[in-house]
Amino acid sequence: MADDGKNIDQWDACSPGELTKLVHRLDYRQRAAHRKTVLNTALVSTIVFACVVLSLGSFLDQSSHYGGIACSQCREHIPEYQLHLIGQSSFEDEDLLASMKIHLQKCKLCRTEFNTLYPEQRITVSSTTRPVLMLALQPAWIAEHSIDRY
Ligand SMILES: [Zn+2]
Repeated sequence: MADDGKNIDQWDACSPGELTKLVHRLDYRQRAAHRKTVLNTALVSTIVFACVVLSLGSFLDQSSHYGGIACSQCREHIPEYQLHLIGQSSFEDEDLLASMKIHLQKCKLCRTEFNTLYPEQRITVSSTTRPVLMLALQPAWIAEHSIDRY
């Protein structure tokens, strides 16, 4: 190749700063690729996190409104409900009574509260009222069968 000596001249000298520019360009591309990977990872993580938060939120929201009443409303009427269970008082609001039954059957927190206040009338979850089965059952049936009386 170098038989006539001219081939050596075909290599032009780099202009000042050209190699530096090349290195910077390569470095920039590497950083961009790295940034893209980090952003993709962050995006996926954010989406997964958001899904977890949303599903947890809807779960908590559902759990606090079993039977159509909030935990605070349920707990407010626990003494009244207990008197109804032992037959010393009748619930004037039939809808609230049905809601109380469902809520106490489904809400573990309120059931625990009730069972702590009235251990002699413990409310237990019957095997026929598991959440999956609940979806298929009519509310009236649930209201009738959800609370075990002692
Ligand atoms: Zn509750």
